[in-house]
Amino acid sequence: MKSTGIVTGIISNLVTVRIEGHVSQNEICYVKLGDERLMAEVIKVSGKNAFVQVYESTRGLKQGDTVEFEGHMLEVSLGPGLLSSCYDGLQNNLKTMSDVFLKRGEYTDPLDHEKKWQFIPIANVGDRVIAADWLGEVKEGWLPHKIMVPFAFKGEYTVKSIAGEGEYTIDDQIAVLTDAQGEDHKVTMVQKWPVKVAVGGYVEKPRPYRIMETGVRCIDTLNPIAEGGTGFIPGPFGCGKTVLQHAIAQQGDADIIVMAACGERANEVVEIFTEFPELIDPHTGRKLIERTTIICNTSNMPVAAREASVYTAMTICEYYRAMGMKALLLADSTSRWAQALREMSNRLEELPGADAFPVDLSAIISNFYSRAGIVSLHNGKTGSVTFIGTVSPAGGNMKEPVTESTKKAARCFYCLEQARADRKRYPAINPIESYSKYLEYPEIISYLNNKVNPDWVDKVNKAKNLVLRGKEVAEQINILGDDGVPVSYHEQYWKSELIDFVILQQDAFDKIDAITPMNRQEFMLTLVLEVCDHKFNFPSFEDCSAKYKEIINIMRQMNYSEFHGGAFNKYLEQVKNILSNEQ
Ligand code: ADP
Ligand code: MG
Repeated sequence: MKSTGIVTGIISNLVTVRIEGHVSQNEICYVKLGDERLMAEVIKVSGKNAFVQVYESTRGLKQGDTVEFEGHMLEVSLGPGLLSSCYDGLQNNLKTMSDVFLKRGEYTDPLDHEKKWQFIPIANVGDRVIAADWLGEVKEGWLPHKIMVPFAFKGEYTVKSIAGEGEYTIDDQIAVLTDAQGEDHKVTMVQKWPVKVAVGGYVEKPRPYRIMETGVRCIDTLNPIAEGGTGFIPGPFGCGKTVLQHAIAQQGDADIIVMAACGERANEVVEIFTEFPELIDPHTGRKLIERTTIICNTSNMPVAAREASVYTAMTICEYYRAMGMKALLLADSTSRWAQALREMSNRLEELPGADAFPVDLSAIISNFYSRAGIVSLHNGKTGSVTFIGTVSPAGGNMKEPVTESTKKAARCFYCLEQARADRKRYPAINPIESYSKYLEYPEIISYLNNKVNPDWVDKVNKAKNLVLRGKEVAEQINILGDDGVPVSYHEQYWKSELIDFVILQQDAFDKIDAITPMNRQEFMLTLVLEVCDHKFNFPSFEDCSAKYKEIINIMRQMNYSEFHGGAFNKYLEQVKNILSNEQ
């Protein structure tokens, strides 16, 4: 028996309901308004009263209207067809731009029920299986989409029958599983997962131990992100958060990507709609959208739907992770998500925390970030969810609660800086403030040293120290004047500029410069450090800056040339000549 209720009060999207029966926290319900059914979620229960957050405008709703509770939490439908799709936070399929403005009470089906998929069985009759085990596979694009034992199945089952190779829709029966009590359960290609709790489906989640390459030098060389790791990109408006995330989406070493555009301005969502399907996947030459799911909410959608979108996105990633894939989740911007949390908590008249955000903002953000990770599955394979979110701190204030809370939760910090963006030093990641905690993990250090170069992490630290030292001497030169400091100070300064111009700055819009594979990053950093180690004996600071400017110009040309191509080798020769002539 489903519980029911009667509307007793309305404050914008928050509706108080007198309940008959029992309802649970986060349960989904529908508020009836004439012929319309408005989806809502229970956010507080107190005695006979429930507070529900309606995912739609509540205009016209009145006391006495009825509410039906569904008995389950907010769920998403998971199955073949998720990739190339665009959804809102409640997984309404937004096939066209007009769907972005769905009518109230209209919910569209997330998956195609007509389409036939070529199924290949993996499990055999008689196999003993548990939730998340692979029963078969279909090709989604060119990716193997595993059909898994539904995660809601508890305990061990025996495969009674399994469909043969052939074409099936997502609703066709592909297996029958018998439970310990001898009862049969039909399995199709679709399953439903609650979005706000992690469903698991793995044996263990070790600490991340390898790197996810992004092709962005500021990340891979200086502050690498681990596969299954977490990072965040705070930055004021216009500093390049979106450009950086798109670069990571295109280039990151991941099988599937989920882009959660949560509540940025409506025109940015239109941009995602028009631009994303055009992006080419540099790994395969195919369209990036073929292995991407987009979740988008604009700020004109009700807050609760915005709040749900990051969870929906994370759940889709976890589903693909259980198939043994590398999933990459990008959320732009998580500040809008936090603002949705704030609006909801304020309406509930909860005691506010800093800047009126909920008191448990930190815990909510940490819990969310902790769902990322690399996992070992029952069959010994690994899967991962790597998560990178942007934060847009109001007025660039890095001390505001969302930035502070996220800093505690995420292991990588890519701090975009207005001053660097103003000087067109893109990506505007501040090299001194930013960090990757993974560089302190012994397993990551040995991974990098094994994979890239035996002294790699030492080289990286050396480069970072040079940048820091450059900043210090720049301040001294600024105060004391060019002649007021020894030439060696100028040399220190120019070493940091060399690293800045050749390693840190990267043109996201140049075909070659945009993507730097790890072996190329290794080559360039080694060459830069070779220049920095060189004893030049400059007679004056003018000679020093002239020589370094010459080298910077040559090495920048290298970045724009094909690795080890004719032009590249010519510039390399020029650098080597400078180094040998000077000796
Ligand atoms: P945000 O999302 O932080 O508001 P955007 O990502 O939209 O900012 O970036 C704003 C502008 O900065 C871009 O339109 C682009 O001109 C410039 N930009 C940002 N990153 C780069 C980059 N790596 N290379 C070149 N230009 C960049
Ligand atoms: Mg942006």
